[in-house]
Amino acid sequence: MLLSQSGEEGKRNRASLSLSLSYMVCFCFLVDQKSVVRRSKPVAGMCSRCRHGATVADMRTLTRFCYIPFYCKSWKAIMCSFCGTILKSYR
Ligand SMILES: [Zn+2]
Repeated sequence: MLLSQSGEEGKRNRASLSLSLSYMVCFCFLVDQKSVVRRSKPVAGMCSRCRHGATVADMRTLTRFCYIPFYCKSWKAIMCSFCGTILKSYR
């Protein structure tokens, strides 16, 4: 009896959790940001994490709403060619 009650409770909690999760997922689908590397070339320097060579990259960040880009920002960054860590950014 007790067991079945707690089972019901757990089911209800899980249902409300999945509901709020789907709201969050829905919001993420509506607004998302995407960073793309347009160009990159090797530059003198070293990654502080993996010791691989650094590259200077032209980045572009697209902010999209319902998959329609409405804001675009270009910026330069020095990033690791191996692990992708951004070592320095010029915005
Ligand atoms: Zn690295």
